[in-house]
Amino acid sequence: MTPSEPTQVRTNMIIDCHGHYTTAPAQHEAWRQEQIEAKGDLSKLAHRHGPQISDDEIRESLELNQLRLQRERGTDLTIFSPRAGGMGHHVGDERMNQDWSRLCNDLIKRVCDLYPENFAPVCQLPQSPGCRPEGVIPELTRCVEELGFIGCNLNPDPSGGRWTDPPMTDPWWFPLYEKLEELDVPAMIHVSQSCNPNFHFTGAHYINADTAVFMQILDSDLFERFPDLKLIIPHGGGAVPYHWGRYRGLAIDRGRLEPAALMGDNLYFDTCVYHQPGIDLMAKVVPVDNVLFASEMHGAVRCADPDSGHFFDDTRRYIETCEYLSDEDRQKIFSGNVRRLYRRLLPAIIATKTKSETAAR
Ligand SMILES: [Zn+2]
Repeated sequence: MTPSEPTQVRTNMIIDCHGHYTTAPAQHEAWRQEQIEAKGDLSKLAHRHGPQISDDEIRESLELNQLRLQRERGTDLTIFSPRAGGMGHHVGDERMNQDWSRLCNDLIKRVCDLYPENFAPVCQLPQSPGCRPEGVIPELTRCVEELGFIGCNLNPDPSGGRWTDPPMTDPWWFPLYEKLEELDVPAMIHVSQSCNPNFHFTGAHYINADTAVFMQILDSDLFERFPDLKLIIPHGGGAVPYHWGRYRGLAIDRGRLEPAALMGDNLYFDTCVYHQPGIDLMAKVVPVDNVLFASEMHGAVRCADPDSGHFFDDTRRYIETCEYLSDEDRQKIFSGNVRRLYRRLLPAIIATKTKSETAAR
């Protein structure tokens, strides 16, 4: 092959669209604590531009965790973002969250530069309750255009469980959607910590948000206004697949598009439901073109299922043994859909492979 020929990318790759850097070296979260205690006054911090973290510390934090699990489970690439619980948009103010997001995103960039064949970067946005969403556009643009990020996580409730900002279908959010369309990057709808004791963060706040945002979109003309907007609702779409009939009925009652038609080329669910019956149900009711392989490793649920002996978040096995999926369906879920959705992913993979092949010559 000559250097000018495009490098082929395997069509049978297994791409996990939902992983977080939950194992970042401790000084990363310690910096955030210092920043909070200093009320954002960086002059009071020992390292105002961020903690000192060596490449070896980053390698160690991944080799024993995410990379080990990729190897053990036979997945190829993880679309990787900062720890969702660490975003903490309800803590501090807009300025503090800009400094924190920048630090988190720069760390993700270092991870992806160290392991370009294993991770592709997705950014955190510097949201803050009551602050207009266009305030996050400079950081989004920096990440996508300067650092090569391929998507972002968008928090529908920066208040952390109090839901004080407008619904995601309100014009409040539209300037951000215009930018997402312009940059051609999808957003994963992803809340952070809950500061409301009624809602456990991963067990209730996450699933509530997934379900709430789906209903907001169902009862709107969002994708007619923004036909190129691409959103992912994680954690299997919250409660939606289980209540598919309810959402179909609500749509018909309201003269809206039914869920399958609504999802179209705009809305996707991932496979983080952590058991076989959940995946079987998704396969039966959700259009296969709208399902993306994901595990949310490492850390949403850390233990193994005592009945099967397998880790709950080892989600590949549920898709492989699901009798409602054909081989073609599995290929779509494992990589076909994600390659179509993340338009900046394939060029990034090709650039990485070309670089490593050139170096190996
Ligand atoms: Zn997540």
